[in-house]
Amino acid sequence: MNLELVDKLVTGEVFSSDRALRHLLFLCDDLGSRFAGSPQERRAAEYIAEQLGEFGYEPVVETFEFIGWQRGAASLEVVSPFRRELPALVLPYSQPADLTAELVPVGEGEAEDFARVGDRLAGKIALCAAETTPAPGRRASHRREKYRRAVEAGAVGFIFWNQNPGQVVITGSLASDAGAPIPGFGISRESGLFLLRLLERGPVTVRLTGGGSTVRLTSQNVIADLPGRSEELIIVGAHYDGHDISQGALDNAAGTVVGLEIARALRATVTEPLERTVRFIFFGAEEVGLVGSWRYAERHRDELGRVVFMLNLDTAARGRLGTECLVLTGWPELVGYFRDLSRRLGYDFGVEDRFNTHSDHFPFAVAGIPTATLTSNDRADGLVGRGWGHTPADTVDKVSPKSLQGAAMVGARVVLSVAAGQELAGLRRSPAELERFLLEERLLDELRQQGRFPLTV
Ligand SMILES: [Zn+2]
Repeated sequence: MNLELVDKLVTGEVFSSDRALRHLLFLCDDLGSRFAGSPQERRAAEYIAEQLGEFGYEPVVETFEFIGWQRGAASLEVVSPFRRELPALVLPYSQPADLTAELVPVGEGEAEDFARVGDRLAGKIALCAAETTPAPGRRASHRREKYRRAVEAGAVGFIFWNQNPGQVVITGSLASDAGAPIPGFGISRESGLFLLRLLERGPVTVRLTGGGSTVRLTSQNVIADLPGRSEELIIVGAHYDGHDISQGALDNAAGTVVGLEIARALRATVTEPLERTVRFIFFGAEEVGLVGSWRYAERHRDELGRVVFMLNLDTAARGRLGTECLVLTGWPELVGYFRDLSRRLGYDFGVEDRFNTHSDHFPFAVAGIPTATLTSNDRADGLVGRGWGHTPADTVDKVSPKSLQGAAMVGARVVLSVAAGQELAGLRRSPAELERFLLEERLLDELRQQGRFPLTV
């Protein structure tokens, strides 16, 4: 098999098909949303399995139980210095609320912000910005870390405000596989700035009511292999679930569609087994705490030692065509390798290293496997952080069909190259290295409590 020719054929497959857009329309417009454990999420999994079957794969669906959440009616009202109802969403896993308390701003919710507030938060409601301003050498905390700090400081409620304009409310889960201890609500940038202006005048009291409830539900991962010659595995992952209040187009129907296109293009052009098996995994229940990817990692513990590289497709098509970027997650020593690969492929994609815990690469990173996320740093939309993600505005119209093709092309060629060769072998982090790294990132204690470190023996 002439690998150079296959590489060209893969590129041609991706750029001569409108399948990506058709998948996106089905997942977003036909299904509406794909919240973890919902019938729409299950239908999305069936659709993915059907498509993989049509491409010539033999997909396997692995179901799992988890603690899910169902939304109930809720409201957020300023009661002093005057009455004003604000548009708001309860954050998944929030306890039902019926409380009235004063607001205390906690900036961007980083450890130093909470240190400044000290014990003034006890018995009050924390008002926290959704995003953290990027700073070199500092990992931005995840929402759940900000929430946990508020709980530890004795807050009785948590309000999370979106920094992107347009009166767009924001959501995001507060816990993983369990109820969260205090009520949490998401509001828009405009409401957040309104509350901050009121706080400059004096005390502000807010009433939070309603919420939702936890319930035992089932979700599933869809898995399909392109078999290789050796025991080694390359994993390509994408979560297909989304939030209940959104089409979840950029996050992450688009990544799912890119994964399907990579699977189709490789199956159509690879005529002899590659060196390594390429395993596609479409994860359920990511938005409620990476449940699908953790369940996969725990169930397939004994295979993780054979995984050479994991490519995660989350927000894979959020920028314009030509701004694709491979973001390594805690592997600065591999930046050079992928920059060389970009040059060899004659297509200039970005390569960076930036560790984060936000998506399905994380369980694999905890197992010591090199991981990267295919995304884009293009902020032509002028938005910060997750952009439209986690809001009702994350709709099909935000996704450019060309960027789906661009991401599928880069992803397919990177996977082809890594799966065809023997490079990147034996790079796993040792348990001791991992322990040091996770301790520095302040993640070790929680992972140990969850029984998730060490993940492999
Ligand atoms: Zn996502």
